[in-house]
Amino acid sequence: TSFEQLGLSKQINDGLLAMNFKKPSKIQEKALPLMVSNPPRNMIAQSQSGTGKTAAFVLTALSRVDFSKPEQPQALILAPSRELARQIQAVVGMIGQFCKELIVEAAIPGAVSRELGVRASVVVGTPGTVMDLIKRRQFDVSQLKVLVIDEADNMLDQQGLGEQCARVKGMLPKSIQILLFSATFPEKVMAYAERYAPNANQIKL
Ligand code: AMP
Repeated sequence: TSFEQLGLSKQINDGLLAMNFKKPSKIQEKALPLMVSNPPRNMIAQSQSGTGKTAAFVLTALSRVDFSKPEQPQALILAPSRELARQIQAVVGMIGQFCKELIVEAAIPGAVSRELGVRASVVVGTPGTVMDLIKRRQFDVSQLKVLVIDEADNMLDQQGLGEQCARVKGMLPKSIQILLFSATFPEKVMAYAERYAPNANQIKL
């Protein structure tokens, strides 16, 4: 398969060209056709870091965005640390560099304007900050189409983060597409993952 077969927009394909991504990596080849299809399906994907999983979920997130509403949050990506959230934000910006109306914002401590709240189509954040913003009504989640959890083994395991991820999900639209990515899914985490992302397609490399 090639990226062209996925039916992504010209702007997104131009971003892939600019990054010199000529063909999908193995995880992208397997996961992307399932993730970008309609009606949206949940996904649990296991793949080592360095295999192109960030681009896989970033492409899916971008594919769900209506760029005529640039300040309306439509995709939410959660990561366990500020640093990782910033890195993912940068990848969204690079792959989306030709999506003229794209706004990608980091929902990490101190990064979101108290007056304005979240004004972005793609939001990359840590679960505690995202939860606070939603509670304070500074983050309108009503139009979110897709929720991505990166490093799901950390995110859904540790007491604190797992609980925060559950609370965040509870505040999102019920029909949201859920994508879980991780290098490992220990048995306990997998059991939780299957409840968190019901009826998900599962891919393991
Ligand atoms: P990740 O697994 O997300 O940490 O990505 C590993 C590296 O692979 C990153 O430096 C990406 O820029 C790169 N990469 C991801 N997808 C592709 C692709 N389809 N072709 C070439 N490089 C890629």
